[in-house]
Amino acid sequence: MDEREKIVQEVRARMFPEILPAIHDIEKNYPPRHLPAGARVTRIAPSPTGFLHVGGLYTALISERLAHQTGGIFYLRIEDTDKKREVPGASALIAASLAQYGIIIDEGQTPAGQEIGPYGPYTQSARAPIYAAYIKSLLERGLAYPCFCTHEETEAMRAQQELGRMRLGYYGRWAVCRTRSPDDVLEALKKNTPFAIRFRSPGDFNNKIAVVDLLRGTRELSENDQDIVLMKSDGLPTYHLAHVVDDHLMGTTHVIRGDEWLSSVTLHMQLFEMFSWIPPQYGHIAPIQKMDGGSKRKLSKRHDPEASVSFYDERGYPPAAVIEYLLNLANSNFEDWRRAQPDEDSRTFILTFEKLANPSGALFDFMKLNDISKDVVARFSAEEVYEQGVAWARRHNSGLAERMERNSEYTQKIFGIERGGTGKIRKDIAKWSDLKGELEYFFDDSFQESRAELLQILFDSEQDDIKKIIASFLDGYDEGDASHAWFEKIQEIAARYGYAKSAKEYKADPETYKGTVADVAKIFRVALTGRTQTPDLYSIMQVMGKERVLKRLSALA
Ligand code: GLU
Repeated sequence: MDEREKIVQEVRARMFPEILPAIHDIEKNYPPRHLPAGARVTRIAPSPTGFLHVGGLYTALISERLAHQTGGIFYLRIEDTDKKREVPGASALIAASLAQYGIIIDEGQTPAGQEIGPYGPYTQSARAPIYAAYIKSLLERGLAYPCFCTHEETEAMRAQQELGRMRLGYYGRWAVCRTRSPDDVLEALKKNTPFAIRFRSPGDFNNKIAVVDLLRGTRELSENDQDIVLMKSDGLPTYHLAHVVDDHLMGTTHVIRGDEWLSSVTLHMQLFEMFSWIPPQYGHIAPIQKMDGGSKRKLSKRHDPEASVSFYDERGYPPAAVIEYLLNLANSNFEDWRRAQPDEDSRTFILTFEKLANPSGALFDFMKLNDISKDVVARFSAEEVYEQGVAWARRHNSGLAERMERNSEYTQKIFGIERGGTGKIRKDIAKWSDLKGELEYFFDDSFQESRAELLQILFDSEQDDIKKIIASFLDGYDEGDASHAWFEKIQEIAARYGYAKSAKEYKADPETYKGTVADVAKIFRVALTGRTQTPDLYSIMQVMGKERVLKRLSALA
């Protein structure tokens, strides 16, 4: 047995004493996927360190659409090899959030906690023997070596490099364990000195190679010469090794990931090469930005509540609206597409890499989210608004849920105002938390404006006319009137008290009139709702019912 074999044996005995699967057996369990030509296999590979970040949802959405629009596969892989950072329950939360936003996974962990799909396990901590088998192969081929440097030693190295303004890392003369003599290594192993396994990089930093990025095009980068850690002393691999092995075995064709990995691509290419595997195509996406005091910055997990997807749920944004907003961030032509086919499922929109290229990072804009959300809610039927609204309220506002459930028919009629017909469509609801305010004035217990307050809102109306106008309206009010008959009556009242029947009439001769029919309608609107802006007044009266209309108007008569 030569020295290298002895080292491999000692490393094995210490780091992975169990029987390791043979590489050819592993490969047999992960046969090439049989998919239509051009089908993409993508994945989202979060580390379970907390909630799903909106950037994670964005990447997941893009990856899912890119796969499914080609008849491919999208899967969820939990990258939990950094046990120190793991948060219990986080992977279940991530799976649940993806499901909530309609991101369909074909393989991986389901929200119920099961794994589906034939290329698993999809949780990296359950794959330790697989990684060990590949590490062993690198050790046997002299492409990896044990490193006994302690954390303190590598930190000291780093400090020295910083001081000398040198490139940071474990390379060249800094890679001290790379050149340790076999005797020395064997002795350290026998003494049970803790160790990690490092890559013996074959690269030369002075060589430039062309790297193609799906979103950024081709760039010239230096070859990797860092002997990075492949396996930590706890026997679990680092991201670099683990994702290379997994993306190979699981047949990933396209990797969309955060641009913090951009500088590691050359290393990842080398690792694929060491195993003679074809690497996936990489696309590095810049983090979502926000405006902060006039300048852009990255959305921060720690400081920005809107970084967490749970924020959108708490506020009551329908998941479909958040998804449409993210599609709009991803491909700016989505907006035109949506305008051209307002009723189409957003899944039929084809995302493209070309349009995705935005190296400086998409800018998050709440105004835009609200606008998109209003459009999305405008397309819902009254029943859908009710169903989704009440489901949200049960989780976040029990008082609202109770009110809606106790008056479900009335509530649905309210949501039916300016909805579903051919006329004007209401666009006043951006999120389910808005429903409370939209419902309030329809209910007597929450319509609490006093007579004095209502008159105060009508301060710029002719106060003497208010009583007379309401009295006239009450005189002729017939709940059975169709909207045009109803409006004609209001026009007549307007004319009787010196208001123009239309804006056009008023403009032709402003001196003659006190105002227009709109000023008259405003009196009813305020008397009924306490507001100057509401959906269609005729519909409001119809939905409120005669008794309530008479009671409220009479209060000002
Ligand atoms: N676990 C890595 C992360 O959370 C995944 C990156 C990738 O998608 O490959 O950043």
